[in-house]
Amino acid sequence: MKKVYIRTVGCQMNVLDSEMVIADLKRHGYVVVDTPQEADCVLYNTCSVREHAEEKVYSALGTIRQDKENHPEKTIGVMGCMAQKDQDLIFQKAPHVDLIVGTGQLGEIPRLIRETRDSAEREQQKAVSLGRRDGTVAEVSGSFQSYDPLRDPEMRPSPYQAFVRIMIGCDKFCTYCVVPSTRGPEQSRPPSQILSEVHVLADQGVREVCLLGQTVNSYKHTENGQLHRLSDLICAINDVEGIERIRFVTSYPRDMTDDLLQAVRDIPKAVRYLHVPLQHGCDEQLRLMKRGYTVAEYREMMARINETIPGCSVSSDFIVGFCGETEESHQLSMDSIREHRFKNSFIFKYSERPGTKAADLMPDDIPEDVKKRRNNEMLALQNQVSEEDNAEFIGQRVSVLVEGLSKTAEKQAARNDEGGGSGLARQLMGRSMCDRIVVFDGNPRLAGSTAEIEIHDCTGTTLIGSIVTRQVQHGSSELLPIIG
Ligand code: SF4
Repeated sequence: MKKVYIRTVGCQMNVLDSEMVIADLKRHGYVVVDTPQEADCVLYNTCSVREHAEEKVYSALGTIRQDKENHPEKTIGVMGCMAQKDQDLIFQKAPHVDLIVGTGQLGEIPRLIRETRDSAEREQQKAVSLGRRDGTVAEVSGSFQSYDPLRDPEMRPSPYQAFVRIMIGCDKFCTYCVVPSTRGPEQSRPPSQILSEVHVLADQGVREVCLLGQTVNSYKHTENGQLHRLSDLICAINDVEGIERIRFVTSYPRDMTDDLLQAVRDIPKAVRYLHVPLQHGCDEQLRLMKRGYTVAEYREMMARINETIPGCSVSSDFIVGFCGETEESHQLSMDSIREHRFKNSFIFKYSERPGTKAADLMPDDIPEDVKKRRNNEMLALQNQVSEEDNAEFIGQRVSVLVEGLSKTAEKQAARNDEGGGSGLARQLMGRSMCDRIVVFDGNPRLAGSTAEIEIHDCTGTTLIGSIVTRQVQHGSSELLPIIG
């Protein structure tokens, strides 16, 4: 039995890629182990969006070097965004790496591992896609294959939730972002393929699907002469028996069309939650980032969301300390959090990424201590807004899809060396229809069912409540949200 260890850094797209690579390797006779030391093959699924994510992988590669020297037969592979972006640089920095596999070649991993293992000289292998300027659009697109083989349910963080990739790549070319290079041109998967995948997942017990795309609401695919948009896809998935909730991330502000908003409002299983990154509250900064919209246009989009889907939660991403950001422009980002009252925001200090327009043309001129201070100010403000808005749920009831033990209960169970399925009441967690995290005490066997929870307390990130009733009729739209 061959043993594989995988470490995943980065976003949901990478989590899904790892799930699929492992499923593929299991079909080739591998078992998954918990440490790189036990493994015959060690894979790092990497992210290039921030420098820190890359540093983590290079540091892990440094740590495993001695192990590889002691066990030269061990195969070390770097896959994903960093593999596509850095390519031979990885071999230079870490000569003990055997494989470099880009995001568009993940299906080749079993073969590449076998060839490395079987070659007498243990030749290093590299499989990557074309650069965005290295061929015609069709050639470059063809070199980034969407990777959607059969899954391994055991690799999912929860048996009741699954990511489903509906598109790959991005054509927006924000000046700070490496994704258009590392994930290639925007390509939407055929709806028939996506639907059959969702049917399989529902048969495996999945209750909630999260549709993934870098700009998921840009989804468009013509099949049998008919154009399918994201709203059409959600509508079709709504009919899949067993699926109770449909989420999608991440949306691009300019593509937030009315048909999509109406779908989120009208389709019973669509979660009333949108993740639509604003990135900055200052027009000049948005222009430098080449985000393709102004603050006023984003405001207009928010007005349409609030008007069409009252009670819809919206979350955002922000970059602080981007090139040329003044104190005034930073304050405008703070104002936008006050104005739009995002459910939560993912706030990141700008980190220059080689190969991007921003790195080539704009100095990274905001000192680290200023970035840090602005980052902390925004986090504190967002937390205050989130806590104030969560407090409005106190005394109300929300419908929650139970995911399993809360983080606290998981840690306790790990400390006590228990599985968590003993039948005793524990702290459980789930999400409301507007994507708020809810914790409450209950039997761990409730995982995968829907429960009605009365909220009696909150923090900035969590609603705290207790079970009123448990709802067991999976798939019934009438059970959907009491509020939110
Ligand atoms: S929309 Fe912009 S930030 Fe998002 S993946 Fe595309 S280029 Fe990157």
